Amino acid sequence: MRNVLLVKYGEIAMRGKNRYLVENRLIRTIIERLEPYEGYRVYKEQGRLLVVNELHEFDYELVIPLVTVLPGVTAVCPCVETEDQSLENLRNIALDYCRGRFGEAPVTFKCETKRSDKKYPHTSREVSADIGGYILHSMDNVSVDVHDPDFVVMIELRNNAYIYTGLIEGCGGLPMGTSGKATLLMSGGIDSPVAGYLTARRGVEIEAVYFDSPPYTSERAKQKVIDLAQRLAVFTGGIRLHIVPFTETQLKIYDSVPPEKMTIFLKRAMLKAADMIALKNGSQCLVTGDSIGQVASQTLQAINAIDSAAQNFVVLRPLCAMDKQEIVDIARKIGTYEISIRPYEDCCTVFVAKHPETKPKKSIIEAMEPKIEGLDALLAAALENTRVLDLK
Ligand code: ATP
Ligand code: MG
Repeated sequence: MRNVLLVKYGEIAMRGKNRYLVENRLIRTIIERLEPYEGYRVYKEQGRLLVVNELHEFDYELVIPLVTVLPGVTAVCPCVETEDQSLENLRNIALDYCRGRFGEAPVTFKCETKRSDKKYPHTSREVSADIGGYILHSMDNVSVDVHDPDFVVMIELRNNAYIYTGLIEGCGGLPMGTSGKATLLMSGGIDSPVAGYLTARRGVEIEAVYFDSPPYTSERAKQKVIDLAQRLAVFTGGIRLHIVPFTETQLKIYDSVPPEKMTIFLKRAMLKAADMIALKNGSQCLVTGDSIGQVASQTLQAINAIDSAAQNFVVLRPLCAMDKQEIVDIARKIGTYEISIRPYEDCCTVFVAKHPETKPKKSIIEAMEPKIEGLDALLAAALENTRVLDLK
């Protein structure tokens, strides 16, 4: 008998022939995450994964937060594992387990059994009734409630037997790297890190791009983006951040277009540069934190006028249909909110138009762009001088 962690994963089961590849990917991700700690091993156990420690007692406080953040993990359960599946042994182990979990105050419980070994000599119902009855008679402070119990004692009979109560929710989604790669346009705001997280959660590896315009944007604004990328790395296992020097491009656009169109051309320049980075790094799409109607450059007309700047890849906007509050709730949950709202002083708001156009015409924008002299050369130089950070 030993304490282990059962890891549940959801959609992977629907992956047909690819299932093993996806399972193995998740196993590898968990192994990598636990590598710095002695003795932890991961095994497959019939549609579940099992984390065990082969050297010493399992440290749940350490391991649970490290595993639940991993995309692909739907839930984890700290549980007791035993090889001996005889009813007598299960009764004793379940009773011990319940004594440890229930405390002294009166509680209600029920037992539920899952049996994947159909040759097992008792039905699931019989096992639940037997063990439930034993616990009921052995403890003074318990009663059975099959509808709304305080504790559901789960007994899973697989290659070994597992006894646990309660699930701890995981990140959900698909294991990292099983859905390709995306290049995320990441500013220091609330939205784009959430867009990155939601994309990563679907198993997409992320590289982030930040457009830096010193001295108009500050060193602290850049540090925020670095810290945000580092926070996302908790979920992804690591993130490459490209910092593109954007001042010259931005000044050029400022000098060349009417103020109300400034943002549209800026966003197009960003997409164009990110598209080139994506082409080099093997991405299959671009991701932004736009949400429909949030600001002038995020109206449907603006999105249309901006999108065609990305020549190679589709631009995904995972937040497009979300309200700000919903985005904030996720940002809080994933720990990016506190970083995003950190105050920083940018020395100049010269690039922000008082009355930005909300319904730009794509054809007009596309006709104007080639007249911005030297824009492509400036973008090429910016890419040439891009700094790359690998964040863990
Ligand atoms: P966020 O909260 O992500 O900063 P926002 O509400 O401030 O978004 P905008 O500034 O209009 O909105 O930016 C829209 C999207 O464009 C961002 O979500 C991000 O994907 C991208 N973006 C904007 N500025 C930058 C930048 N300096 N570097 C990289 N991407 C950027
Ligand atoms: Mg922003």
